[in-house]
Amino acid sequence: MLDLIKKAEETHMLTKDELVALLSTDEFDKEIFEAANRVRSKYVGEEVHLRGLIEFSNICKQNCLYCGLRRDNPNVERYRLDAEQIINFARNARNLGYRTVVLQSGEDDYFNVERMRYIIKSIKELDLAITLSIGEKTYDEYKAYKEAGADRYLLRIETTDKNLYESLDPKMSHENRIRCLIDLKELGFEVGTGCLVGLPGQTIESLADDILFFKSLDADMIGVGPFIPNPDTPLKDEDGGTFELSLKVMALTRLLLPDVNIPATTAMETLNRNGRLIALQSGANVVMPNVTEGEYRKLYALYPGKICVNDTPAHCFGCISGKINSIGRPISKDYGYRKKFIEKN
Ligand code: SAM
Ligand code: SF4
Repeated sequence: MLDLIKKAEETHMLTKDELVALLSTDEFDKEIFEAANRVRSKYVGEEVHLRGLIEFSNICKQNCLYCGLRRDNPNVERYRLDAEQIINFARNARNLGYRTVVLQSGEDDYFNVERMRYIIKSIKELDLAITLSIGEKTYDEYKAYKEAGADRYLLRIETTDKNLYESLDPKMSHENRIRCLIDLKELGFEVGTGCLVGLPGQTIESLADDILFFKSLDADMIGVGPFIPNPDTPLKDEDGGTFELSLKVMALTRLLLPDVNIPATTAMETLNRNGRLIALQSGANVVMPNVTEGEYRKLYALYPGKICVNDTPAHCFGCISGKINSIGRPISKDYGYRKKFIEKN
């Protein structure tokens, strides 16, 4: 196994069988995490990029079995911010020192192209990079967001196992998910994708396929997080993913895609109180603190135990910055584009 880790660190290539071998034992986890940390340091450096997350609507027309925002969950109080609130949260994030905001929501058709265009243009005037995470759209809709100034788009593939995906995301097609990612690439977005770890019925082989999919797509950002069962969803009695396996999928992703941006996900911190710092020392280089203000934080409830629901953006910024500095890592002051992306454009 040590030879496989060495090969991954030096060549950034592993076969599916080799990935499966590393994912099947926890005996060499420490070596994998250390190798991923070295690769992170060599390719993307010590700086940690902070992206301010604005959760602007928890209304969703989709019905993903794992997600608390699913259409058929009657136990969530729904909200939708208006454009001025969203722009205001972005302005406050800029004043705190953020250079990027991530606008995330359920698939809420109220936010049509015209409304999104206004929000994107207004936020660009604040000199912020914008990441959108608002689900599956048409090519023309993605094009309109890009023309309005959006820089990046996050759309996790969730799992590359087509049958599993289509059983967990009713009425959504795996082909369409992939079509979206290809359209986004073609339109010149920095594209983020990723997977959930620990979905019911998910195999180690399919996790290996997920990592190889990220590489074949040449994704610019990859978010890996544990699936955490939500008591208000059909998957409430499932086991969910573990912190350790999620961390390992993330670290192997770093070994195979050395220069991409990888967040230390909030879901990891939900399962381990030092989860984000451990992830930052095992291959991650991005953190996405919440900059949504007020009661909305707790209403955007994908899974139970979400961190920081009663905190303010200023508190979160200070808290996470202090933690990051405590492990000897500086906070980046730039927009945090992938280097390869800047060279290409
Ligand atoms: N609606 C958009 C979409 O699905 O791409 C963006 C918002 S969605 C809530 C963002 C991510 O939340 C999903 O990609 C999914 O991986 C994650 N998520 C949903 N339910 C989860 C759960 N129970 N545990 C962990 N992550 C979850
Ligand atoms: Fe909606 Fe996204 Fe949740 Fe699926 S994962 S139900 S699309 S918010």
